[in-house]
Amino acid sequence: MSGVDEADFLRRLKKFEGRAAATAGVGKDLVNEPMIRHWCEAMGDTNVAYTGPDAIAPPTMLQAWTMGGLSGHGDGSGRTSAYDELFELLDGAGLTSVVATDCDQEYVRDLRPGDRITYDAVIESVSEPKTTKLGAGHFVTTRMDVRANGALAGTHRFRILKYAPAQRNSGGAGGARTVAEPKASAGAVRPRPVVNRDNAGFWAGVAEHRLLIQRCGDCAELRFPWLPGCHACGSAQWDTVEASGRGTVFSYVVMHHPPFPAFDPPYAVGLIELAEGVRMISNVVGVAPDEVRIGMPVRLEFQRMDDELELPVFRTEAS
Ligand code: ZN
Repeated sequence: MSGVDEADFLRRLKKFEGRAAATAGVGKDLVNEPMIRHWCEAMGDTNVAYTGPDAIAPPTMLQAWTMGGLSGHGDGSGRTSAYDELFELLDGAGLTSVVATDCDQEYVRDLRPGDRITYDAVIESVSEPKTTKLGAGHFVTTRMDVRANGALAGTHRFRILKYAPAQRNSGGAGGARTVAEPKASAGAVRPRPVVNRDNAGFWAGVAEHRLLIQRCGDCAELRFPWLPGCHACGSAQWDTVEASGRGTVFSYVVMHHPPFPAFDPPYAVGLIELAEGVRMISNVVGVAPDEVRIGMPVRLEFQRMDDELELPVFRTEAS
């Protein structure tokens, strides 16, 4: 983009600031004890304030009361088209990737069982262009005001980065902005792995068709994925052992939805327990996705995804 285009683009983005993303949304359920209990169990939160006749809801549940659930929100979300329009504009400029970066909440009053939740959301800000390690793009901050029985109970702000993924061979972080062509699913390539100082040895192994597991230099505990320190004793000393390549399916999911560019659903994602005892996530190949089963023996192989990417995958032994 030229400087003029860049300024014009930013002006168009800035017009979204202050636009409503949702108006008069209604929470699907009143604030209620079962949801509070499930939340506390999932979080391991035993605070006595969340139980008993005078219970309040954990403040961090704020967003939960506004969520539409798996079936969607129906007519109750109050959602406007502003967010979609903003995304179309960003997608059209090649900023096709999105990552949630952070959220912060402010609590104004306690929520209690029986409270009726309503909310509004506004696109609060769209940032100047920013270059991050992921790629160059714009941060979009949305603020949701959550009300209980009509009175403000808290605000929930969340920020995303809409960006053009950095190209792996384009000079690295801080390099010139490279706006990738918007990738149609047909021509899309698998996302590149993030290679850093902590895991470079693993990827060096993959390049030699060796699956390397870290071994603690002090207590000999094996660890995977690669990390700077030992989770058992804290030691920073390590070497590696090469996996035999034998393993079993410890657990798996079959992905049907949502579709991602470069992935062709349905496909099986397995949690593979290696013979050495550590587990890793990878694709299970050589069998129809709906025929993958826990306990299936699998064997490592290296599958070429494209010109520059090879990945360890696991093929069922029978195939
Ligand atoms: Zn150790």
